[in-house]
Amino acid sequence: MPADLLIECLTGTCVRPNCTMKNRVLVVGGGLAGTAVAIHLAHSGNQVVLAMPKHVQDTNSYHAQGGIAAVLSNTEDSLDQHLEDTLEAGAGMTDETVARYVIEHAAEEISQLESWGVHFDEVEDHSYSLHREGGHSASRILHIKDYTGKGIMTALYEQLESHPNIEVHKGWRADKLLRRSDGSCGGALLHDGEEYYTVEADHTVLATGGLGALFNTTSNPDLAWGSGVALAMELGAKVRDMAFVQFHPTVLYSDQPGKSLLISEAVRGAGGILRNHDGVAFMTQYDKRGDLATRDVVSKSIYNEMLKADVKWMYLDVTHFETGKFEEVFPIISEGLRQRGLDPAVDLIPVTPASHYHCGGIDTAISGATNVSGLWALGECARTGLHGANRLASNSLLEAIVFARTVADSISKSVERAVSDVPLAAEFSESEASDRSEIENLQREVSRYLGVMRNRAELDEMIASWESRKESTSNRELALRLALCIEIAKDSLRYSQDVGALTWMA
Ligand SMILES: Cc1cc2nc3c(=O)[nH]c(=O)nc-3n(C[C@H](O)[C@H](O)[C@H](O)COP(=O)(O)OP(=O)(O)OC[C@H]3O[C@@H](n4cnc5c(N)ncnc54)[C@H](O)[C@@H]3O)c2cc1C
Repeated sequence: MPADLLIECLTGTCVRPNCTMKNRVLVVGGGLAGTAVAIHLAHSGNQVVLAMPKHVQDTNSYHAQGGIAAVLSNTEDSLDQHLEDTLEAGAGMTDETVARYVIEHAAEEISQLESWGVHFDEVEDHSYSLHREGGHSASRILHIKDYTGKGIMTALYEQLESHPNIEVHKGWRADKLLRRSDGSCGGALLHDGEEYYTVEADHTVLATGGLGALFNTTSNPDLAWGSGVALAMELGAKVRDMAFVQFHPTVLYSDQPGKSLLISEAVRGAGGILRNHDGVAFMTQYDKRGDLATRDVVSKSIYNEMLKADVKWMYLDVTHFETGKFEEVFPIISEGLRQRGLDPAVDLIPVTPASHYHCGGIDTAISGATNVSGLWALGECARTGLHGANRLASNSLLEAIVFARTVADSISKSVERAVSDVPLAAEFSESEASDRSEIENLQREVSRYLGVMRNRAELDEMIASWESRKESTSNRELALRLALCIEIAKDSLRYSQDVGALTWMA
């Protein structure tokens, strides 16, 4: 073996097919949470293996439009107001200690992003351009036009490429988490589309994002179906608040399944008005905040109007905007609409609620630790307690960057040791290819039974059906998806009343 390869094997950096590598920290997921935690870990001298998507467009982070909620010292807003809005959106289920922690660290993490090369929009006097979104009592959303996620991820990916302590593997997906014989997590089995790789690690960090693509209609990319949460559950990690799937009220209506264009809430913040098919602006009938009510209220109101009129969409009206204003402030949305033959200056925009964000997930302590030793989680796959039963708009990018530093610090401070010598508990077998038709069928069921409004009796029946299919299928992806559906349904049934993002049919 050539000397350089031997050194790679001894130091655990060998990437040859079928080589069993040994690394200290494995980070799974290359969105904002995964890249930021990898950079922090690397800066602290950890050796990081980062399994990330082939394309940055496969992350939810890239598609974030509205921005990051943050109260900075040079504004007239206050931390207490941000906290109050977060608690109100969370419908009594937010962990106040966690919320305060995240909100108080916002300014520090915005500076960190800037030091990594992110430039937020400014106004003439060079103070930040701050947008206001539904549920926020003040303008506090930092943004980069309407492509904040793209702006942030472009800067962070440059940081990744230049760091010697980070070994980046594009297109690697975790297929199974490895259990050591003492019950701890020992890394993961990953797949690059052709080969399987065993990556052993002292610490495994899940940053695998949301589960919008469990549903038929979503704002999320296809890979965001919750695989990280399902793998963690399989290993024995606790999950919490699984019932609370947030539906974005205004995703462009499409008769095709899958990801559709999101029309940011900042559009309503800038004056966009929801109208029914008779042209009536209906939101004030549902909430005194009208079009600026929190997204759960707006989603339910739109859904209700759709049921009443037996139609599949409502309209968002921006035709009254000053000429050229919409294109200037929302260039990506404008372009997306034009590609679909819509001119926002004259056309009403057909919108429908769609699965968007998961408030629940892998239960984590404020350090980012899960109940499984060696396993950590952050970002959308984690349930930190910040969002309660309903996330306040633009709090999730903030959560990702705050917990990136927290998790990296927690891992760096944990007892230094070489890769654990506790052996892996069991061998694993390669999984079978997924049958897409069964998965598409499940996506339709999920939209029907776990959508904006749920029905108790139907959920009981679906749990029985999903459990029996989970037992009998040899399709691993389907089984993991079914496990998530069962968990969401069972958690929903714990609530007899509507709570936050969870609504029962009358
Ligand atoms: C259209 C849209 C607009 C949004 N706008 C905003 C906004 O303005 N402000 C805001 O705060 N939030 C917004 N959100 C939510 C926010 O973008 C996400 O909550 C946040 O980016 C999540 O970051 P993350 O790093 O946890 O996950 P992601 O960015 O989704 O990254 C997770 C990565 O993990 C990968 N992955 C998943 N499973 C595996 C596996 N098994 N193995 C390996 N990799 C895996 C995924 O492919 C993905 O690349 C928006 C979301 C969407 C979809």
